[in-house]
Amino acid sequence: MKILVLNSGSSSQKSALFELGKAELPNDPAAPLWQAKIEWNPQSASLEVHTKAGETLKQQTLVRDRKSAVKEMLETIWSGSTKVVEKHEIEAVGHRVVHGGPYLWEPTAITQAVKQAIRKVEPFAPLHNRAELEGIEIIEQLLGTVPQVAVFDTGFHRTLPLSAAVYPGPYSWYEQNIRKYGFHGINHQYCAGRAAQLLKKDLKSLKLVSCHLGNGCSLAAIDSGISVETTMGFTPLDGLMMGTRSGSVDPGILTYLLRETRVPGEKLDKTLNQESGLLGISGVSGDMRKVLAAMRDGNERAKLAFDIYIHRLQTGIGAIVAALNGIDALIFTAGVGENSAEVRAATCANLGFLGVQLDEERNEQSPADVEISTSASHVKVLIIQAQEDWAIAKECRCILGKTGNS
Ligand code: ADP
Repeated sequence: MKILVLNSGSSSQKSALFELGKAELPNDPAAPLWQAKIEWNPQSASLEVHTKAGETLKQQTLVRDRKSAVKEMLETIWSGSTKVVEKHEIEAVGHRVVHGGPYLWEPTAITQAVKQAIRKVEPFAPLHNRAELEGIEIIEQLLGTVPQVAVFDTGFHRTLPLSAAVYPGPYSWYEQNIRKYGFHGINHQYCAGRAAQLLKKDLKSLKLVSCHLGNGCSLAAIDSGISVETTMGFTPLDGLMMGTRSGSVDPGILTYLLRETRVPGEKLDKTLNQESGLLGISGVSGDMRKVLAAMRDGNERAKLAFDIYIHRLQTGIGAIVAALNGIDALIFTAGVGENSAEVRAATCANLGFLGVQLDEERNEQSPADVEISTSASHVKVLIIQAQEDWAIAKECRCILGKTGNS
């Protein structure tokens, strides 16, 4: 079954085409037949198309509106030198939808009612949900009535106990659906299954902490395969320090700024989402690679940004382990988690009290889907390559009932 996946973000549009047979192990990701990414820049967009082997087939700048650029990207699947299949061979399309709000948790076939429900929660994640609805409409235009499935980043966290999900404001907030939803659920869930597979253990016997460290960062505490706590909240702005997002800050700072400087709400939103985090503190970049390079060159603000990032990660892990009442394995995933030996080493340096012991040599090599703790370590430490798109394709196949299981 050939399944196309659209992963529409606020700053990028990723897409991949998979061929899923019935034989794959539940957590053995297949390489995509075709993979592409558009990075949205203020004036234009840059497109990259890759083959199954990771080879770059096409690189170009698109100076078109968002919708036309996405169409141009998708057309490289079935036309020109990048063609991998005929258009009619695509049997289903899966979409990552960031916020399902209180209405949508489980992966679901997209109908008019589902589209309306996604639109209804647009105010919860305006940039994301709008881009995702646009992606659904583009597929309708290009592929007509092909079945489409929505998979929600909030879905995995539907199991959070109320003690974790309800904010200690007035109870009426909760009645208005203002609660912790949590994000990165598609990858946290995949990582939990993959960790059990790599450790050759039953997922039901494991207490796991998954550290998703990309442009956005979040932790998930996973007990017996179930999410019991996570650091992102009502929006993906909460929790850990991120590339350009602040993560948790004293809400009193916001009321102070609103009261004393009369900063408009939209400006505050922009500051917290786009001008904070690694970028805000270092003044260099939201990209960890650039912050690390500046730090090595002696830039003190870059060093402070790194130190805050690690401090918040360590204290976040400590807190979430308490919610989990133990830990068998610590997982590093996504851009920073998979690639930065420095971040992993600095994070684990204060976790010896939990029984974490990193194998420094293995950590330096950043091997994908491998244990990087010593044999004496009580807590296994793993690097797991994020596989959101493949996980979405798998859910898609499951929903469309081709195999009856996933
Ligand atoms: P997204 O959250 O957008 O899916 P990714 O998971 O791809 O992002 O992570 C992107 C981030 O990963 C980049 O901003 C960069 O900071 C970080 N990154 C990628 N490679 C490295 C590396 N070798 N060292 C440190 N950070 C890296």
